Amino acid sequence: MRILVVEDERKVARALKEGLEAEGYQVVVAESGEEGFFLSHQETFDVIVLDLMLPGRSGTEVLETLRRRGVQTPVLILTARDAVEDRVQGLDTGADDYLVKPFAFPELLARIRALLRRGRQDQALRLKVSDLEMDLVTRRVTRGGSQLELTAREFGLLEYLLRHQRQVVSREMLARDVWQEASRATPLDNVIDVHMARLRKKIDADLGVKLLHTVRGVGFVLQEGEP
Ligand code: CA
Repeated sequence: MRILVVEDERKVARALKEGLEAEGYQVVVAESGEEGFFLSHQETFDVIVLDLMLPGRSGTEVLETLRRRGVQTPVLILTARDAVEDRVQGLDTGADDYLVKPFAFPELLARIRALLRRGRQDQALRLKVSDLEMDLVTRRVTRGGSQLELTAREFGLLEYLLRHQRQVVSREMLARDVWQEASRATPLDNVIDVHMARLRKKIDADLGVKLLHTVRGVGFVLQEGEP
């Protein structure tokens, strides 16, 4: 788990880094808003701890820009005791939680753990390749934001392909795992091919980038670009 700490006060930054590292996290410290903004774009983090009072670009500005650009990393903001307005503004801007300085370290750890749990849950309930997205809770599938109507079988097939994206999936795997045919007494190849053709028509119809590819003699692969 990687955490980005954006904090200009060296003493506080060092204490956070040491404390979090002792808990097994990897920690990168940015000492200004600019640096924090740059790092959060260059690298991936599981949580960002962001001080609001920073020289140059403020924490609020950093957060606003990140969210505008679609960076969804959970953000925990740190704010001074009397800056209630900042706090409210921070949450409006897209922070996930805040902590008032000075805070107790165990409290910070608890908040970070909660954000990590939330992040993982969101991830597990949504599958995605390129602009094709599947929500496992609402069972909604979209490509480029437009909803696709899939049958239950097509949904199951696509879910399997999404979970194995960039890997070649054979007809044997599909028969066993999607159709739940333990033995291949009844060859399913034709059935699989028919469903695959229908699914391909729905997800790749009229759209520039093909996502579902046939690997001749082997099976299928779901990925952006040719296998
Ligand atoms: Ca500060």
